Amino acid sequence: MSKDRLFLSPPQMGGTELDFVKKAFESNYIAPLGPLLADFEQAFCELTGFAHCVAVTSGTAAIHLALRLLGVGLGDVVIASTLTFIGSVTPATFLGAELHFVDSDRGTWNMDPVLLARAIDEVEAKGKRVGAVVPTDLYGQCADYDALRAVCEPRGIPLLIDAAESVGATYKGRHAGYGGDAAIYSFNGNKIITTSGGGMLASDDSDFINEARRFSQQARDDAPYYEHTTIGYNYRMSNVLAGIGLGQLAMLDSYVARRREIFQWYEKALGGLPGIEFTSEAEYGKTNRWLSVILINEDAFGTGPETVRLALEDENIESRPVWKPMHMQPVFAGVPCTGGAVSEDLFARGLCLPSGSAMTEADLERVAQAIKSVIR
Ligand SMILES: *Cc1c(COP(=O)(O)O)cnc(C)c1O
Repeated sequence: MSKDRLFLSPPQMGGTELDFVKKAFESNYIAPLGPLLADFEQAFCELTGFAHCVAVTSGTAAIHLALRLLGVGLGDVVIASTLTFIGSVTPATFLGAELHFVDSDRGTWNMDPVLLARAIDEVEAKGKRVGAVVPTDLYGQCADYDALRAVCEPRGIPLLIDAAESVGATYKGRHAGYGGDAAIYSFNGNKIITTSGGGMLASDDSDFINEARRFSQQARDDAPYYEHTTIGYNYRMSNVLAGIGLGQLAMLDSYVARRREIFQWYEKALGGLPGIEFTSEAEYGKTNRWLSVILINEDAFGTGPETVRLALEDENIESRPVWKPMHMQPVFAGVPCTGGAVSEDLFARGLCLPSGSAMTEADLERVAQAIKSVIR
């Protein structure tokens, strides 16, 4: 049996990417800086509503730059979602800051604003300063920005939205990420649109983004020779990759629509099975359904998510458990977490299903059959 492998979230090219990349070649702008990069940033500003954007090498790099320029440093504490990908939280450690995790809200799976307020109190009770709060928009659903900002703003704590997974989603009619002091996005190969690898930092604050741009290019001073008064990074996106991004942006609406259809297809095909649950969409926005996730209740379903994962693997279908919470990671042993039971439960019961926008009806059928075969 040699069925094609079904991946969790493979890239899908729309068709015009190569035309943009050709432009880069024809104009010989193979260097990092070039006109496509400026066009990509401009187009991303128009998409998100942010006044300023800087394109960088990854979402992780965007978070690193943002935290540095928000003034996070040695001994500060960065509060982050525990249910997230590690790239969301490692940049704090690059800066010598400490981490403090916050559990998810049961309804949205995103950072619980009530627990966030408690976490800030816990950090401050130890005499430490909270340098920033970084909530993740999990699997394409926006966190409740207004509720989180209502906690951060009166205390003067910057809010950096990790919208790596939520490009194309909305919160109260605005694009994902718009609702804090700044937001980051990822164009890694598995995200809803990709530049093969890349990220974006966005904000309405022009000084902030200009500084981020300077820091992404080795923090060079304004002089004809190379002069540096501070340490920067080599984080700028290449003009060639920005070309891929421009082609992908043109496809975003259709990819979001397709991922939402895929979720609905799974919900219809599997929602009636005993012990299978889907997450509902928060009232305040529209998720991009980057990944379709099911929760499996072992008692009702008859077996747990790992059996289902292995059954899918037997059919050459990739699936994956929900992100393992950061407070359960060996590397973060001893890092405090406010709450934790919700994310632990989601990790124990959750399974991410193939969700790529190029999936066909037959692909979806294969996944559903493999899952159903487990309980037969
Ligand atoms: C993918 C991802 C990142 C990191 O993005 P990269 O571009 O891979 O560095 C950060 N946070 C979350 C929640 C992600 O899913």
